[in-house]
Amino acid sequence: MTTSHYIAGRWVEGQGSDCISVNDPALGQPFAELMAASVAQVDQAVTAARGALPAWKNTSASERANYLHGFAEQLGQRREALITLQMRNNGKPRHEAQIDLDDAIATFSYYAELAEQLPSKNRDVPLAAPGFSARTRLEPVGVVGLIVPWNFPLVTSAWKLAPALAAGCTVVLKPSEVTPLIEQAYGQIADALGLPAGVLNIVNGKAETGAALSNHNGLDKLSFTGSNSVGSQVMRSASAQCRPVTLELGGKSAIVVFDDCDVDQAVEWIVAGITWNAGQMCSATSRLLVQDGIADALLPRLQAALENLRVGNPLTEEVDMGPLTSQAQWLKVAGYFATAREEGLQCLAGGKALDRDGWFVSPTLYADVPKDSRLWTEEIFGPVLCARRFATEEQAIAEANDSRFGLVATVCSADLERAERVADALEVGHVWINSVQAVFVETSWGGTKGSGIGRELGPWGLSAYQSVKHVTRCLG
Ligand code: NAD
Repeated sequence: MTTSHYIAGRWVEGQGSDCISVNDPALGQPFAELMAASVAQVDQAVTAARGALPAWKNTSASERANYLHGFAEQLGQRREALITLQMRNNGKPRHEAQIDLDDAIATFSYYAELAEQLPSKNRDVPLAAPGFSARTRLEPVGVVGLIVPWNFPLVTSAWKLAPALAAGCTVVLKPSEVTPLIEQAYGQIADALGLPAGVLNIVNGKAETGAALSNHNGLDKLSFTGSNSVGSQVMRSASAQCRPVTLELGGKSAIVVFDDCDVDQAVEWIVAGITWNAGQMCSATSRLLVQDGIADALLPRLQAALENLRVGNPLTEEVDMGPLTSQAQWLKVAGYFATAREEGLQCLAGGKALDRDGWFVSPTLYADVPKDSRLWTEEIFGPVLCARRFATEEQAIAEANDSRFGLVATVCSADLERAERVADALEVGHVWINSVQAVFVETSWGGTKGSGIGRELGPWGLSAYQSVKHVTRCLG
């Protein structure tokens, strides 16, 4: 049983009613347990964050930057333990767990640098009207609730924590009940750095704990990453209190491959876009649009590449893809395999769970999937790729945009003018051209349409935790 809630600078045992099992998905077995935080403990965490706010928001930007540099350094010092825990609890291959850790470190370093530049952002505003002066002040939004999912626990939390602390906000973080141990590192680091008590609080738990946080009237803002169904509940509670909310939600993203592409290179980008993190990515490019002239050459190569991936336990084998992270996700993906069979979809690879312990599925490819298939329209969140052919650029753009989601897209073409043109026409928040899904902290992250509200990363990620104040003075 783990003591896993960090409230007002102290580690405390959960007093909620839910017992949370922490599982190794490669074995399908638990390796730790913890009690969820109670509603009263969520309240204590918000109260602690509220109490810490006046002092924290008045620290100098350089003091906050020092703490953020400290987070980056201390994450690095915990490298091996954090990589192993992600492999064990998420089922991530080692190289992916390493990249997640490096991403979290880069995020803290980046926002430390932005924090250092903050004083220069408070500046005089030139006015056309005579007789007045005006200045801008960027202030922290206040006490912020942060609710995150399980697929990139170190990363999604870093993308919220680092800019929130840089801005001068105090926070209550609620990690996912599927991966509740990984983000404890942030509490341990806060301890080690002597971060003032209450600036960062962590409460673990399931939906009840999340709802207690998102409904709490002591928050000034809520930032949520997760599914659309929970996101809409979080938005409802934000609307009840007329409170700002950032939502990073699901996707059903397209990868568009034109017939001037190098086939092997395109296969590499397609495979990475659907099998990284076993396809459990909001940004998975799970809809392949392939031009008629290249489809017959590409699909067999893609089928072979998916079938040749090494799928296994990242802790004991050299693997390209691990298991799905939870049994619930495994059952959900298996449900889509059953739907595909009922719909009579043409399965070129996979389409089944692996016959071994743990929550493994085969990397899967369905060809010529009808536009109205549930597998074409719904977020599956697993290594399940659906392909359709197209003839013209206009048709590719129309089909890619024909989704209630709008998170990301990838365009593959040797004609860079066309690739840029298509990128501009896609209704999404982030487009890659001839690339794997490289995400840089200086760029923005977030979607259009049903994929969410607001942006993380870059200066936009910091603005999400800032409030703009103008002070206007009459000079007369
Ligand atoms: P989820 O919505 O089930 O859970 C997300 C978080 O919300 C968890 O911490 C959960 O405990 C909490 N929660 C559950 N019920 C709640 C409630 N009623 N009130 C408040 N909080 C509640 O999502 P998940 O299964 O953990 O994650 C997968 C989803 O996250 C996918 O849809 C994926 O696309 C999305 N996601 C989006 C991004 C992005 O940046 N857009 C990134 C990662 C994941």
